[in-house]
This record gives sequence, C-alpha cells and structure tokens, in this order.
Amino acid sequence: MMPSQPARIAYIAGYGRSGTTLLDIALGQHDAVLGAGEITSLTRHVWRHNEYCACGNRIRDCRFWSTVCQEWLANSDPTLMSEYCGLQEKFEGLPVLARMFSGLSLGKQFAAYALHTERLVNAMLTCSGKQVIVDSSKLPGRAMALAQIPGIDMRVIHMVRDGRGVAWSLLKPYARDANSGLQKEIRPKSVLRTALRWSIVNLAVEYLSRQLGPDKVLRVRYEDFVSDPVAIMRQIGAFLELDLQQIGSSLRNGEPVGPGHQVAGNRLRMNGSVALTRDESWRARMPAGQQLSFERLCGWMLRRYGYL
Ligand SMILES: [Zn+2]
Repeated sequence: MMPSQPARIAYIAGYGRSGTTLLDIALGQHDAVLGAGEITSLTRHVWRHNEYCACGNRIRDCRFWSTVCQEWLANSDPTLMSEYCGLQEKFEGLPVLARMFSGLSLGKQFAAYALHTERLVNAMLTCSGKQVIVDSSKLPGRAMALAQIPGIDMRVIHMVRDGRGVAWSLLKPYARDANSGLQKEIRPKSVLRTALRWSIVNLAVEYLSRQLGPDKVLRVRYEDFVSDPVAIMRQIGAFLELDLQQIGSSLRNGEPVGPGHQVAGNRLRMNGSVALTRDESWRARMPAGQQLSFERLCGWMLRRYGYL
C-alpha cells in the first residue's frame, strides 16, 4: 500500500570528492533521517556484486538492505532489478536534463521508472521507520527524474567544493581494496578531465535548481561546511525543517559520527566513525602549473562560487 504523504528525500547533488558522503553521514545522525548513501548504485552494482554497506556487512547480509530489497521485490517479477537498472540508465543520466530542456516528454517508460522508484523509496521508509531519506547519489539527472515523481517530495542540497581541491584529490591513484569499500582500482584523472566534468555537473545542478525553484534547492560549499558546521547545519535544518543543532555542535567539537547503512560513496563511510576535518592540502601541495591550468579553464566557475 502506498502512503498518502509524499516521501521526503533530501538529495545531495554535485561532483565527487566534494564531501557528499560526509554530509550524508552527518545528516543520518538525526533520529528521523535515514542516511542511505548513493542509492542509485544499490541497483546498478552494489546488490549485484554484493558490495559492502557502511554497517560493515556485505549488502546481502545487511539486515536493513536485505529487508528493503525483499519488500521491494515481493510480488514482482524476479527480473525487476535488472529491468529497473535499464530504466535508470535511461532516466538518471544527463541526457534527461537535455530532453527536458528541449521540452520533450520523458516517454511511456518513465511511468514504470517512477512506480518502481516510489516503491523502493517507500520500502526504505517502512523498513527504517524514518521520515526523511538522504540520497547522496550526486547525479543531477537522477535528481531531475526523482523530482518528476508525484509521490516524492524532493529537496536538493547542491554541494560545491573548490574544483582545484577536487582535481588534486582525483590526481591520486588508489589500489583496489574491496574490504575497505573500494571496489575497483582508481586511476588518476587529469586536471583537464576533472575541470570539464566538474563544470558540466555543477552547471547541470544549477539548471536543475532553476527548474525546481529556489525553495527546493540549497547550495552548500564544502569549505563552509567543514569550517563552520554549526552555521551550515542550522541552514540545512531550516531548509529541511529538521532540528540539526545538536549534530552541528558535535561536528564542531570534533566528535566522531558513526555511519549508518550508506551504500557506495566515499570509502570513509567504512571507517566505523568519521570526524569533520578540513582537507585543504591541495593549496600547498598541488603544483602551481596544475592550479593555473584549472583556473584558466574554469576561472569563471570558481569565481561564481566565490573561490577566486
Ligand atoms: Zn548495512
């Protein structure tokens, strides 16, 4: 049975390495909030490859997610999950934004995507007993798709980080380490690649923001979040109509916060607990030439967010 109230989702949109998982975990400290991680990945690969949940169990052994999936898939065709993946490919990418931009309709299949998404979200609410879901999938296309579903009440937190810090973070390679939540090797990404993608994704979130209207979107800079979590939690709390004051003070005092059942996202979610630390190491360590390349390409975007 579908509940009569629309399901509340706080969607964290933006580019990777911008503190989205950290914010997801922080918001998940509130009693009424389910910090769920990058929900888009649950059906795309986490369930299929039985990857780790932030609780430390593999997803199929995690009591929360196995109950959610059981409830979601009950009374449906066993092929639902793979069919749903196909619908996600179609409706959660950037092309959806382009379609809507040019006034094209989403087509008949969107109804199936909307129905199964709403059922999944409601299974998550029922199984957790919470009232708000944090979805840190980041993708602006998915945010746009969710916003078109009448049974979902969407609020978007646009998380931005200085692109030079993002580029520096992505220049570092990591070896595969499945036990610590890293499912595949991470190769270094060039500054040029990051500059282009960082701009496109943030511009797409801004386009989405204009479509949804100012009361549905809040922009948060990673740097402000880590330097003044009390103020940012107050702001987000007002936006989501939740009292987040206690969480803000805990973060300011450097108290570690424990992850819940976040799927995918930054591997820090596997640490058992995380504390807020400001990572500005790029300022000292990123070679000046690379910083300059980024500024040449994206100076206007950096200025837009107050970084230059
Ligand atoms: Zn779990």
